[in-house]
Amino acid sequence: MKVLLINPEFPDTYWSFRHALPFEGKRCAFPPLGLLTVSALLPKSWERRLVDMNVRSLKESDIEWADMVFATAMLVQKDSLREVVKRCKHLGKKVVLGGPYVTTTIEDLPEADHVFLGEAETTLPQFVQDLERGEAKASYKAAERPPLSVTPIADFHLAEMKRYSAMSIQYSRGCPFSCEFCDIIEIYGRVPRTKSNQQVLAELDALRDLGWRGTVFIVDDNFIGNKKNVRQLLPELTRWQKENGHPFSLLTEASVNLADDEELLGNMREAGFRRVFLGIETPVEESLKEAQKSQNRGNLLDSVKRIQSYGMEVMAGFIVGFDNDPDDIFERQINFIRESAIPLAMVGLLNALPDTQLWKRLEREGRLLGEASGNNTVCTFNFVTKMDPARLIAGYQAIMRTIYSPAEYYRRALDSMKRTEQSGTEPQHYDVLNSIASLLRIAIRLGVLDRERKEFWRFLANTITGHHKKLAESLRLAAMGYHFRKLSEVYGAN
Ligand code: SF4
Repeated sequence: MKVLLINPEFPDTYWSFRHALPFEGKRCAFPPLGLLTVSALLPKSWERRLVDMNVRSLKESDIEWADMVFATAMLVQKDSLREVVKRCKHLGKKVVLGGPYVTTTIEDLPEADHVFLGEAETTLPQFVQDLERGEAKASYKAAERPPLSVTPIADFHLAEMKRYSAMSIQYSRGCPFSCEFCDIIEIYGRVPRTKSNQQVLAELDALRDLGWRGTVFIVDDNFIGNKKNVRQLLPELTRWQKENGHPFSLLTEASVNLADDEELLGNMREAGFRRVFLGIETPVEESLKEAQKSQNRGNLLDSVKRIQSYGMEVMAGFIVGFDNDPDDIFERQINFIRESAIPLAMVGLLNALPDTQLWKRLEREGRLLGEASGNNTVCTFNFVTKMDPARLIAGYQAIMRTIYSPAEYYRRALDSMKRTEQSGTEPQHYDVLNSIASLLRIAIRLGVLDRERKEFWRFLANTITGHHKKLAESLRLAAMGYHFRKLSEVYGAN
């Protein structure tokens, strides 16, 4: 059996980092971990190939080679998925679909031969057996969420590693909190399941053996969802990093209550965590209450500062459009982002994702208008907002223009570097030639061609005088700032 695994294209969003990656000579931020894991669940004797359309285009010859096509998608990839399925069916191929979009969508799915709802660890082996007997079903749904002990090491070797900015692994699924707008807890549950320490270290071994050096993104919904297990993992991670010469710089997502646990923060620093993404959403207490985000209620600014003081750059998500947002929400978000020194602030408009508690409430209230796009930077709402939508959109655009204006952004980047000075042993993964090439690309684009070049040189001069050990980091931040500025020109335009 020849299987083609296809990752549909992502539109230009925050997480695509599309405008920053060319500086690094990369095509895409992360490989499609879900598909690589699906591949590892298929029989060893099956031939398999991966086409990540975010790295290269899907050719007719790719499809013609295959007996069967597997594709997964998130909501934001739905248009590309539809196109992929159409092309594959046109060439007479069997199509198998799975992933978060397929699991939660309320729209008509593209015409597939087999559909997987939920996680595939137990259903995919069943499908393979059924297929061999000629009795494969149209739809598979796991009776319960599988333990991650059965999740194999992803087939990382299928990914063209040099095309990606970071590699990904997953430690846990699920989150114990109950934020009203969150679809993660509906898909993966509120009881976090984790892999064993041995599984995680084996995945790191696999990446190391394939020659990967650099950032590894632990793509958990909430890395500290099961604190008891994380406490046991971190010393093992630290030991592994030491024994292997600190090849990886770690990045993950966590809930804000990470700030309440200084022992955990210290252990994360030792293990090589250098960046953490937090769902901050809003500094407005009433809106947090509405969103049932109790873990964020308290002094959010202090929480961010404490995490930064352990050498971790904080990236964060922010939302406008809650029912309880006051008239001055836009200024309050700008001020919070400025004071918290969060360079990469991903601000979006609230939208109701299918199956979430928010979706159900809005449906009860008769306020739903249809399915969301999945791209929260697009200026649309899929529900009737309390604030005038035109005002919300104008305010959102003003936030984007302000926080990504070069002077504001570089100020935050410098403040962030200052606050994260106390990092532990620096990961040893810099490739000198690549770093020089990146420096030249950034210097030409941002220091010569860009109309805001004065701000760039001022930023670089400040970095050299105040944070010379963080030069590589400052260049990464400059490139990221450019990506966000480009997005703000699209989504923040009047
Ligand atoms: S903390 Fe994050 S992952 Fe957990 S429920 Fe809230 S939004 Fe979802």
